[in-house]
Amino acid sequence: MMRAVVYLLITVVVLALLRAVMGVLQKGVASLFQPDAGQRRTAPRSAGQLRRDPVCGAYVSEDLAVRKTAGHKTFYFCSPACRDKHHDA
Ligand SMILES: [Zn+2]
Repeated sequence: MMRAVVYLLITVVVLALLRAVMGVLQKGVASLFQPDAGQRRTAPRSAGQLRRDPVCGAYVSEDLAVRKTAGHKTFYFCSPACRDKHHDA
């Protein structure tokens, strides 16, 4: 009975190791066959325009910004803290 448990544990560990190795290999192969992947990482994301945080002046991507809509105007902030400060101003 103990043997079965040990074999099961070994099997689980080996499978986990295999999956980890396969993951690393897949990443390596993917970067080999997609040489432009590195360029895409540095380029700005598709429709994400840069917006200026009116509180601290930082430029933030529309996708990542914290938004606040006042009337028909939308403000973009780098963080909830800046959004709250804007509320006070
Ligand atoms: Zn800010």
